[in-house]
Amino acid sequence: MTDRPRWFQTTAIDYPNSRPHIGTAFEKLGADVQARYRRMEGYDVCFLMGNDENTTKVSKRAAELGVPTQAYADDMARQFQEVWKALEITCDVFIQTSSERHKQCCRKFIQKVYDNGYIYKGKFEGWYCEGCEEFKSEQQYKENSGLCPNHRTPLIRRSEPCYFFKLSAFQDRLLAYYEANPDFIQPEIRKNEIVSLIKTEGLRDINISRAGEDWGIRIPFDPEFTIYVWFDALLTYITGIGYGDDEATFRKYWPCDTHFIGKDITRFHTALWPAMLWAAGEEAPKKVFAHGFVYIKNEDSGAVEKISKSLGNVVEPMEVISKFSAEAFRYYFLRECPFPSDGEFGWGRFADVFNSELANNLGNLLSRLITIPAKNYDRVLVGTAGKTPEPVVPGLDLALFVGEVREHVEGCRYNLALQKIVQDFLTPTNQYLEANAPWKLVKTDKEAAKRVLFNAVQSLRIASILLKPFIPKSAETIYTSFNFPTPWAQVKYADAAELRAQPDDLRVTAELVDGKVKPLFPRIG
Ligand SMILES: [Zn+2]
Repeated sequence: MTDRPRWFQTTAIDYPNSRPHIGTAFEKLGADVQARYRRMEGYDVCFLMGNDENTTKVSKRAAELGVPTQAYADDMARQFQEVWKALEITCDVFIQTSSERHKQCCRKFIQKVYDNGYIYKGKFEGWYCEGCEEFKSEQQYKENSGLCPNHRTPLIRRSEPCYFFKLSAFQDRLLAYYEANPDFIQPEIRKNEIVSLIKTEGLRDINISRAGEDWGIRIPFDPEFTIYVWFDALLTYITGIGYGDDEATFRKYWPCDTHFIGKDITRFHTALWPAMLWAAGEEAPKKVFAHGFVYIKNEDSGAVEKISKSLGNVVEPMEVISKFSAEAFRYYFLRECPFPSDGEFGWGRFADVFNSELANNLGNLLSRLITIPAKNYDRVLVGTAGKTPEPVVPGLDLALFVGEVREHVEGCRYNLALQKIVQDFLTPTNQYLEANAPWKLVKTDKEAAKRVLFNAVQSLRIASILLKPFIPKSAETIYTSFNFPTPWAQVKYADAAELRAQPDDLRVTAELVDGKVKPLFPRIG
């Protein structure tokens, strides 16, 4: 048995009818920072992601390409995971909803809800297009004057048997749950939207069955029907950790600590999902965090656009990664786009942020603090063993500063955490170096220059620890450029909260070529 605190988090699962774009990646990235931070802090983390495959969009796309749906879904799952890996996303479980395990566990769940009396047979009535073979919403009917938006033929009124989930039975319990758990829906603005929606419109029972579809999961108590894709998709959050076939793992991780989702699907996650769980006798998740969207800055017109295929502005993560690096990608989105609200991507802005903060600020600091000791002290600052560095940032309470960064990370305000690290810490460290100019001082007072370098290197130790969840590889490169005693795999945020002496003289351990260090962030020209 482990006594480590456990942490279970998920992202939304994606429709694999097209490859992931930078907006999809934004969510995974924000979730990854949290997972990495929790692992660092000693949590036993399970991070679940997956693809939402049991939808007609997927079978249609496969048919267009002339491949079997399953083969198409499997290939897309491979492509998605390739992108996530390239972005250094550290998910522990990746679920395909077309997998046999998910299907089995999903059927067990729906059977349980049925046995508990929360599913009943009824009739669904609505506007139907025979060409599309699907029902259109009341809104689509009105907007298109009764015609199908695709076929321009009249929609017909049709009613068919279906199964309803008694969502309405949970309305009071949901409102009470929001009240008792004020952090359940984050950020606050999303909570207010949901509460007012439920209070004004109320919750209606929902049709959770579909008729006449070949692709999808059969309803166990009536195999004529398949399970509505949303009902099945939400269940990945529990089937992925063993619901229905691995009780011990499921009990270990459930209830979920945070579901990371896009703000457009808040209602499914904060109303339908807890109600489904309660109907099956399970606990509701602890938190749903609804992040914002990434928009594209059109650099010719200056307009800010939604990412869309029809506008032809889709940017794939691999495009950015192959031009620059995964770390540059991570830094830009985490620094520039506030996770709880919306952000923008533009190539020009990307270069500006990269050059000013990574190349000129952090990269330059590292390069100086490696090069000067290597050139003038044969890599070793003799006599620094056992000495505690002096503070270089005037008036900074280090413990308080690290505490504030930590609060931003835990609150998923990653842009504010990074802003704080850069503005309140790295920039003043660079100013300290400029003011003391050890590259000049070394020629007149080698001992004094050594003290300046020794003090400033401490800032790299602190910054690299704080940056570990954000830019893990670069942070590791920085940290391991010196002989800091705590192994990189064991550092925690608390290690950054104080200036530390170390048993040995400070030494540069970075690899040098002809006395020069390879730039960590070569400037974008
Ligand atoms: Zn139609």
